[in-house]
Amino acid sequence: MREVLLERFSAFGLEISPEQAEKFCLYHTLLGEANARFNLTRVPEEISEAVDRNYLDSACALKIGLIADAQRIVDVGTGAGFPGIPLAILLPEREFTLLDALGKRVEFLREVIDRLGLNARAVKMRAEEAGRSAQMREQFDLAVSRAVAPMRVLAELMLPLVRVGGGMLAYKGPGLGEEMEAAQTALELLGGRAAGVFPAEIPGRDWRHALARIEKARATPEKYPRRVGIPEKRPL
Ligand code: SAM
Repeated sequence: MREVLLERFSAFGLEISPEQAEKFCLYHTLLGEANARFNLTRVPEEISEAVDRNYLDSACALKIGLIADAQRIVDVGTGAGFPGIPLAILLPEREFTLLDALGKRVEFLREVIDRLGLNARAVKMRAEEAGRSAQMREQFDLAVSRAVAPMRVLAELMLPLVRVGGGMLAYKGPGLGEEMEAAQTALELLGGRAAGVFPAEIPGRDWRHALARIEKARATPEKYPRRVGIPEKRPL
């Protein structure tokens, strides 16, 4: 695992320290153990594919320079910890909040955070509730999210958490152009402004992943996010 990890990060163009490599290896072991106990996430059998799909893919925002100087970062619908845990390993000085609705995943993440000594906390909460709580609303410099919802839904889950002047990054696959079109009204209503789509390339893979960056231009009106489940049921 260690050799493949170092080789893939180097091909990707990000140097990682021996300590960071250890943390990725331990995370990988903990993921495997948890997957044997309950169905946590799909981990590809082949190690290089597992590294590329989960760790390098999560690191794309950093590689492209989209994290910039964001200090307080929230990962919305983090699941087994993507992209939040790899980013927390790579950026140990930043503060991460990993949000997910499912208790079992959050328990797993607490164990990972503790064992790896990360500057992070895992919170079991729906994003709609977090967006209405005084402790989290407009408290983050940056919100990130991978594989959670279409952009117009995601915007309602993420933008309320971001301070004015901050931003959100959505990890997406092919078809992002149409999602961005469909999200225009939602972005306008929520105080967001589209700030570019960036190809997220991994050497040797033709996955056509991309990252969309949205800036928080204005405060989100009080009425958003709507009640749990409504953003998905009746997208803006
Ligand atoms: N981001 C991870 C990844 O890329 O592997 C997990 C993706 S998984 C398909 C979607 C996750 O989002 C699930 O763990 C689910 O519990 C969580 N989720 C979906 N809607 C949510 C919401 N409204 N609030 C919090 N978590 C949510």
